[in-house]
Amino acid sequence: MLDTAVIGAGMAGAAVAAELELAGRDYKLLEAGPHRGRAHIAADEDSAHLADPAQDPSFAPFLAQPGALYGPLSGYRRRVGGRSLYWRGICLRVEDDVLREWPDEVRRALLGTGDDPGLYAHIEAALRTWCGGIQLTQARTTTEAEMVKELAGLGYPAVPTPRAIRTLGQGRWEAYSPVTDLPSERILAGHRVSAVRKRPGGYSLVLDDGDGPALAARHVVLCAGTVGNIELVDGLLHGRGREPRRYSLVDHVACGMLVVDSHGRHEAMESSVYAGFDAPSRSNLIVERQRHGEGVLLDAWAMGEQPPEATSTVLAGDATSVTLEPAARAALDAVRRDQRHLLGELARRTGLTTRFREEYVSFDEALARAEAEPGTAVSYDATIGELDHESGGLPLDGEHVDVNGQLREAPEVAVAGPCLFPRAGAANPSLTTLALARYVVQRMR
Ligand SMILES: Cc1cc2nc3c(=O)[nH]c(=O)nc-3n(C[C@H](O)[C@H](O)[C@H](O)COP(=O)(O)OP(=O)(O)OC[C@H]3O[C@@H](n4cnc5c(N)ncnc54)[C@H](O)[C@@H]3O)c2cc1C
Repeated sequence: MLDTAVIGAGMAGAAVAAELELAGRDYKLLEAGPHRGRAHIAADEDSAHLADPAQDPSFAPFLAQPGALYGPLSGYRRRVGGRSLYWRGICLRVEDDVLREWPDEVRRALLGTGDDPGLYAHIEAALRTWCGGIQLTQARTTTEAEMVKELAGLGYPAVPTPRAIRTLGQGRWEAYSPVTDLPSERILAGHRVSAVRKRPGGYSLVLDDGDGPALAARHVVLCAGTVGNIELVDGLLHGRGREPRRYSLVDHVACGMLVVDSHGRHEAMESSVYAGFDAPSRSNLIVERQRHGEGVLLDAWAMGEQPPEATSTVLAGDATSVTLEPAARAALDAVRRDQRHLLGELARRTGLTTRFREEYVSFDEALARAEAEPGTAVSYDATIGELDHESGGLPLDGEHVDVNGQLREAPEVAVAGPCLFPRAGAANPSLTTLALARYVVQRMR
C-alpha cells in the first residue's frame, strides 16, 4: 500500500508534493491530465496564447451545463502542473482584517509569533530566492518604475505588483511553479480519481469513471481544485445518489477600465503596478500597461472579495451545480458600483474621459470600444467564476475539515488548496495556497 497519494498536480498538489519530498515521505502525485511539459506558458512565444481557455487543449470546464453560474470559461487546465503553469505570479497576502476571522492557530501560523516569522514570510523568502534574490516588488521594466512614481504623485501607495516571476528577455517571463522540480517518477499522469473510499488500513482511490482499477494508500491529500475537492469529499462522506448537499463557494469580483494610447511608448514586457487596497470596495487596485499594436493598452482593474453575504452555493451530488441567490447578486452589484467609483476616481486623477456602463461588458467588447475611441477609459467586467480564484467550501476548522486541514470523519485524508480558506478577502489566492500546503503537510500524521 502506498504511504500517501496526492490527488491533483496543480498549484496545491504540486506544492504538497514538494513539501512531502522535503519531509522525505513516500508519495505519488496523481493527475487526471497528461504531461505536456512543465514550462510556464508565458516562457515561450508558442504557448503564450494558451492563457485563452478557448485556445488551450488542456482547458476542461468544471461544470458542463449551459447557462450555469460557473460558465464555459471556468475550469481546470487539465495537465501536470494545472493552473500553476498559467498564473501571473501575483502574490498578495490575505488582508489582516479578513485573517482575523480565520482560526487563531492558522492565522498565527501564517503571520508568525515571537521569533517565528510565519509561513507567509517563509514562502515569500523562498519565492525571492527562486526569483534570483530580488524583492517580489522589484520593478521589472523602466515603465513600471515610472508608473510607480506617477501613481504615487496622484496619491496612491503604489509599488510594482508583487509577483513571483523571472524575466527571460524579449518580453518573455515565467512564474514560479512547484511542479517544476518534482522527480518525474513521483508523478502519475492520466489518472483521474473518480472516488475515494475507506478500506481497512487506508483508502482506495477509484481511477477513471467506470470500474477502473483502484489504488490503495494509507494517507490521501485532496488537491483536485476547489470544485473537484468538494466533489471528492462529498462522495467520500455521503456517497452518491442522495439529495444534493450544499457547500459555499466564492470567486472574486472584478471590473476594470481600458484605455488605448495609439502612440504610447511601449516595452516588450508588460508593466504592472499595485496601487493599493481600497476599503470601500474591499478591492485591490492594479494598473498595467502593455504593448498594443504600435501603441499601448492601459488596463486598470479592481479585484475584490465576493463578500460573505454574497457567496455562491455548490450543490454537490450526482450533477454538481453552482447557484447564486438574488440577494447575493444585489450584494455583488454593490461591490461593482464601488469598484466603478474607484476606477472613475483613478480616471479623474489622471485626466481621462470615461465611458463606463452600468451593465456587464466583456473585456473583448470593451477593448473594441477603447480601440474606437483612443484616450477614453472604457469599463469592463469579469463575471463570477471566470477569475480562476474559486475558493472556500471546505474551510479550515469548519464542518468537514479540522484546523489541521484533515477531514473530521476521515483523519488520514487531508485537503489542500483555496477550498480551505475560511474567508477569501480580496487577495489573489496562490501565495496563501502555497503557505497552507506547508501548513497541512506539517500537520499530517
Ligand atoms: C491565467 C491565470 C492567471 C492566474 N493568475 C494568478 C495570479 O497572478 N495570482 C494568483 O494567486 N492566482 C492566479 N491564478 C489562480 C491560480 O492559478 C489558482 O488559484 C490555482 O492554480 C488553484 O490551485 P489548485 O491546486 O486548487 O487548482 P489547479 O491548479 O487547477 O490544480 C488542480 C489539478 O487537479 C487536477 N484534477 C482535478 N480533478 C482531479 C481528479 N479527480 N483526479 C486527478 N486529478 C484531478 C486538475 O487536472 C488540475 O491539474 C491564475 C489562474 C489562471 C488560469
